[in-house]
Amino acid sequence: MKRHHPSPEVLMSYAAGSLPEAPSLLVATHLAICPECRVRAGELDALGGAMLENLSPTKMEADAFDRVMARLDEPEPPRAPPPPADPVLPAPLRAYVGRGFDAIAWKKLGRGVEEYRLPIPDADSYMTRLLRVADDREIPTHGHDGDELTLVLAGGFRDGEDSYVRGDVASADPTVSHSPVADKGGECICLVVTEGKLRFSGLFGPLLTYFRG
Ligand SMILES: [Zn+2]
Repeated sequence: MKRHHPSPEVLMSYAAGSLPEAPSLLVATHLAICPECRVRAGELDALGGAMLENLSPTKMEADAFDRVMARLDEPEPPRAPPPPADPVLPAPLRAYVGRGFDAIAWKKLGRGVEEYRLPIPDADSYMTRLLRVADDREIPTHGHDGDELTLVLAGGFRDGEDSYVRGDVASADPTVSHSPVADKGGECICLVVTEGKLRFSGLFGPLLTYFRG
């Protein structure tokens, strides 16, 4: 099955440290699940660091590029083992939630849909939440002014031709119209980071926007 990763641009911004906190948390959580992106982010980080080291007021040395590439081939130093894992929340996310998955205080959003908003300081620019959707239910559709990233933590969903399971990242820009549906056979848990304010569509859309705006 095709896996879904953050875009190269998002990964690059993350490695450069220029991605805001909310999407950074989503990428860090994805990296905890996806070894492929972990390697890529490590390379980008090394590349960025090496380029900074080589910036001088005079000129970049001619062999800088070769040295950067040689450095990328160096083995990674050993790292401390990660803390014991929560079955749903990888370590970076668990640190933000502040408790295990079983202790989350969910808020009912609608039939078969619950949410938990994460306390992230830049709440004016981003809404960061966990969504818990009962099996075979439609994930609430909405418009948004900015990009939206969705990371699957448990279960899965399908959106048109694409299927998403634990670790997959779905990216939607404001022009994308989507109607994701949770897979049958179990609930779907996602981390959703939405840039800008949500504009809910459907019958209760204007009402929800009023209360949540
Ligand atoms: Zn990945």
